[in-house]
Amino acid sequence: MDACLAFAQSKQREIVALIRELVECESPTGDARAVDRFVDLVAAKVSGVAKVKTFPGGRFGRHLGCEFQLPGRRKRGRILALGHSDTVWPVGTLETMPFREADGRLWGPGVLDMKSGIAFFLYAVQALRELDIPVRRAVTLQLNADEEVGSDSSRALTEDQARRSEAVLVLEPGTGLAGKLKTARKGVGVYHLTVRGRAAHSGVDFSAGASAILELARQIGKIAGFTNLKRGLTVNPGVISGGTRSNVVAAEAGAEIDMRVVRLKDAALLDRKFRALKPFDKRCSLTVAGGLNRPPMERTAGVVRLFRAARALARKLGVELEESMTGGGSDGNFTAALGVATLDGLGGVGEGAHAANESILVDRIADRTALIAKLLGGI
Ligand SMILES: [Zn+2]
Repeated sequence: MDACLAFAQSKQREIVALIRELVECESPTGDARAVDRFVDLVAAKVSGVAKVKTFPGGRFGRHLGCEFQLPGRRKRGRILALGHSDTVWPVGTLETMPFREADGRLWGPGVLDMKSGIAFFLYAVQALRELDIPVRRAVTLQLNADEEVGSDSSRALTEDQARRSEAVLVLEPGTGLAGKLKTARKGVGVYHLTVRGRAAHSGVDFSAGASAILELARQIGKIAGFTNLKRGLTVNPGVISGGTRSNVVAAEAGAEIDMRVVRLKDAALLDRKFRALKPFDKRCSLTVAGGLNRPPMERTAGVVRLFRAARALARKLGVELEESMTGGGSDGNFTAALGVATLDGLGGVGEGAHAANESILVDRIADRTALIAKLLGGI
């Protein structure tokens, strides 16, 4: 049997215990104290084997960077392992959704997205050290504190690290219960459309009013028409607001519109369409703000090369890896957009990210851990 796989199997109970410890250290986005506590926990775990640095993340808490000491002399180039410390679950979620092991799975807030990925990586590093497998590249782990809300505060740090790396391995969960790797992700953006009209009494002075709500409704109809499913381009007016009372012609209304694109050039096209919106009712005015946040992670030659390497390594572990494309974004979108070969979805295999049934498969812990070790040693 493959040595990394044998190692991971022998450590499976320890890996489960670490995942439990990470899940039970709740770390919701924007709760800096909680996130810092989680960062301290991970930093303590690696302090003997890595140089640890933290970077200010403002109200999100600190971002973590760890440079590992791994076997093999004369490092050439770098591999960046990328993850995030934040979760979508508020502190106290454990009371109703405690960590538990049942039905061949581990359950709990953040277990899939993405605390198991962090645990796999730490044991992959341990495997390389204990088995004395030479790693020809320097290896850095970066955990961002604000991934779940778009990574505004960590983006520059991620891009800076990626530019100095030959490859990026993203520890986000795989796709579905097969744990497919992610070789393409849609680009993600948000537009804010604000409509200003003219208030009036709906009974006394109806004609003097210009309804911002009516205008918004017409604009939404137009914007919905920007969707082009064939090109994988979607716009979703997910939030609307407006008006004050039913007997007042609304002076203000607004919408938040999520957009997803497969190709970067579609984002530019879409942006022109948003900026060109004109009011149907000339007495109303429109303001458009926002735009693309994460560029698409396109399936470039570098991405394909990394995936093929991973597939070949996984075969030695008895696993047939598949690839997938997802509409969700990750920090891998930023690194791939810089042209750095990026492979995503190397973390937990399970389902229910951001949902009450969030869980990972216990019998995929060992092969995932071994795969990460083999990638670090083999690319
Ligand atoms: Zn995630």
